[in-house]
Amino acid sequence: MALCEYEISPWKKDFPILNSTFINKNPLVYLDSAASAQKPEYVLNTCRKNYETEYANVHRGIHHLSEEETANFEAARIKVQNFIKAKSPKEIIFTRGATESLNLAANTLGKKILKEGDEVIISLMEHHANIVPWQLLQDEKNITIKVIPVNDDGSLDYDAFVNLLSPKTKLVAVTHMSNVLGTINPVKEITAKAHEAGAIVLLDGSQSVTHFPIDVTDIGCDFFAFSGHKLYAPTGIGVLYGREEVLEDLPPWQGGGDMIKSVTMEKSVWADIPARFEAGTPSIVQAIGLGAAIDYLNSIGMENIHAFEQNVFNFMYDEVKKIPGVRILGNAPHKGGLVSMVMENAHPQDISMILNQMGIAVRVGHHCAQPITERMGVTSSCRASLGLYNGRKDVEALVAGLWKVKEML
Ligand code: PMP
Repeated sequence: MALCEYEISPWKKDFPILNSTFINKNPLVYLDSAASAQKPEYVLNTCRKNYETEYANVHRGIHHLSEEETANFEAARIKVQNFIKAKSPKEIIFTRGATESLNLAANTLGKKILKEGDEVIISLMEHHANIVPWQLLQDEKNITIKVIPVNDDGSLDYDAFVNLLSPKTKLVAVTHMSNVLGTINPVKEITAKAHEAGAIVLLDGSQSVTHFPIDVTDIGCDFFAFSGHKLYAPTGIGVLYGREEVLEDLPPWQGGGDMIKSVTMEKSVWADIPARFEAGTPSIVQAIGLGAAIDYLNSIGMENIHAFEQNVFNFMYDEVKKIPGVRILGNAPHKGGLVSMVMENAHPQDISMILNQMGIAVRVGHHCAQPITERMGVTSSCRASLGLYNGRKDVEALVAGLWKVKEML
């Protein structure tokens, strides 16, 4: 048995919902952070205080509150910049979430650089949010989408990726970490290879950003997308990082206030980056909440969070694997954060319903990644995913629950 040193996470106490919520008289065991993470008191208090004492619209006012709120909002941008090690705050575009970030990329970068006959490479383990926007462009622009296959162990077939690259490849858009398999992809190598072929690289960091430190400058990618709500921040805020030299050349996507320098009835002049991509009133308090979540995570340290979570993950992986009749989807060497499983003679829906009766929250379905779910030979799975607040006790509750399911079904 892999040792798990931590019975209860030292940070669980920071999350009010985890210390106060009971389901059927059982304390809540929250194992659904890959879908959305719970919020620490610090983030909740920051948002509440902001609405109570500092709130106003940003950028367009010269009254005190608006100036103060603009400073808060722009300070959050700098926190994001430092958190992912971008070179400039101009490279941080606030969106409503990863899905909007990826659609923004498709509708600016994609529309600008792709022409008939060009190729976009994605992988079989993408979330629908990094498949469908490119399919929409495929229909519009007559481009070809090529798909990197996935090995039986859930790792990306790197050699196949290299073989797919050609002078026609204009964009490589892959996930940093799979939300079904937990596989962590070699994105630095992928980026270097894609750049050698002259392609732009976009990474979906929705899952990776929550588990380990991110350095977009070191990775060398051109774009990196993620959502705030999986990173202990409010919903309605996301980020698209874009390398300054690439962003400078891109046209806007949505039109409206804030994204222009001037408007006449004949024509408009676009604002500089990143405002060019942020039409309309942004998610102000949500962005400030994301800044607070980053302050909270920095107070612990992402390296510490990673080491802690990997320990809990190894324990969860080993314990779940021991249950006869349970199959874990994917066992790639670089994997973490979550375990998706199927059980002989038990439908994933029934497993999660029984676990729910015991206060254990897991997710069931194809996790918005139907192609990889099918590649693993199933139509749905039951996914237990970790946050920094989960310790050994949570995993023990899950494992006891799964043994009970086995007895019942
Ligand atoms: N990509 C991945 C890998 C994800 O896990 C998710 C969320 N499940 C998304 C994209 C989309 O994120 P959102 O729904 O927050 O826009």
